[in-house]
Amino acid sequence: MAKKIQSIRGMHDILPEQTPLWQFLEETVRNLLASYGYQEIRMPIVEMSELFSRAVGEVTDIVEKEMYAFADRNGDMLTLRPEGTAGCVRAGIQHGLLHNQQQRLWYAGPMFRRERPQKGRYRQFHQIGVETYGIATPDIDAELIAMGANLWKQLGLDNIRLEINSLGTSEARKAYRETLISYFSDHFDRLDADAKNRLHSNPLRILDTKNPEMKELVANAPDLQDYLDEESKEHFAALKARLDALGIAYTVNSRLVRGLDYYSRTVFEWITDALGAQGTVCAGGRYDGLVEQLGGRATPACGFAMGIERLIALMQEQGSIADTKPLDVYLIMAGDTAEIAGLQLAEKLRAAIPSLRLLSNCGGGSFKAQIKRADKSGAKYALILGENEMVNNEIVVKSLRENKAQETISQDVIADFLTKNK
Ligand code: ATP
Ligand code: MG
Repeated sequence: MAKKIQSIRGMHDILPEQTPLWQFLEETVRNLLASYGYQEIRMPIVEMSELFSRAVGEVTDIVEKEMYAFADRNGDMLTLRPEGTAGCVRAGIQHGLLHNQQQRLWYAGPMFRRERPQKGRYRQFHQIGVETYGIATPDIDAELIAMGANLWKQLGLDNIRLEINSLGTSEARKAYRETLISYFSDHFDRLDADAKNRLHSNPLRILDTKNPEMKELVANAPDLQDYLDEESKEHFAALKARLDALGIAYTVNSRLVRGLDYYSRTVFEWITDALGAQGTVCAGGRYDGLVEQLGGRATPACGFAMGIERLIALMQEQGSIADTKPLDVYLIMAGDTAEIAGLQLAEKLRAAIPSLRLLSNCGGGSFKAQIKRADKSGAKYALILGENEMVNNEIVVKSLRENKAQETISQDVIADFLTKNK
């Protein structure tokens, strides 16, 4: 036997038994986004590497060590996208969607990060991202958060909490940065290797550490809230007032900084305690500087991305089962001529009843073998077409789930019968 090839570590197949839950989630999100007036955008999975080093930031985990980057045959450096915001901004600038306009956009698809695979952390994973452009006021921050709250409700998830913070403007952050550098320098011995590396390049990221041994040091660090500029304070207060008005519970976590560089003012995370260490199912915030940083005209922006694998895991954890619609009909055909007539009948029935789920027996087989397959298929009825039935323009209807006598009916009424009984 030839050697078997396995999928790449951290990159998983989503098998047919799992796809119904994915489809339920995707459809729920799609309908919800439509109900808020958001439009879908689809970007390529591969972008110029420079897009991510400029957007996400040179000294982030993603750009430093997680990107799948490679040289194209012409020497261009390309990257499998690790996230969607950068590509969405790139597309918005390229197609003139942003300047002096408001946009409410969303996208869905795979993202790639070369992280250490573990529960809830994969090398290919999926996000649904939502991005808004051209709206500087906190009403849109609140709308995005309300949308999340609504989605968890529709998915039947009741154990997701909201943490929010404000990072202020980049000017305000500069003063805080200096204070943090001096605080962490005073405790240099207690920093882990990552934090030592980050100390001068990106000290805020130390607050985002996942190392439990650093938690206490981080907890006692100076508070970003004390360094906020007046306008950011007002923006944050207005956001909180709106969340209160909507009855959306939150906690302010002044250590919440997010792993990407481009955020300003509002940041938020939706977190569950039911999935262990990888508990953030959705994260986002405001990134007013990014459009300009990527060569567009200054445009305020706010968005979020949710991790589909983590949401699916949470749904499974809570016992959600997508109610998949079973097959209505399994069509059994006995003999060569019946096979051709059956092919025609199957097409006719599917055209007559668009919602009909009809699986046609393929690959031949004895009557007994076909009945077995029919039973295993989960279909409600077997339709049986044999030589006799063909001669009389009839068909046999056998209920596979109820103990009823089978009936023979005219082929002219089979569509009516199925419409009434499926
Ligand atoms: P984390 O702190 O868990 O590494 P992050 O800050 O890197 O997350 P974002 O870039 O904000 O995550 O991505 C948004 C969401 O995408 C996360 O909250 C998470 O649900 C999901 N996500 C991110 N990285 C992965 C991954 N490697 N595998 C599965 N889901 C992921
Ligand atoms: Mg990460």
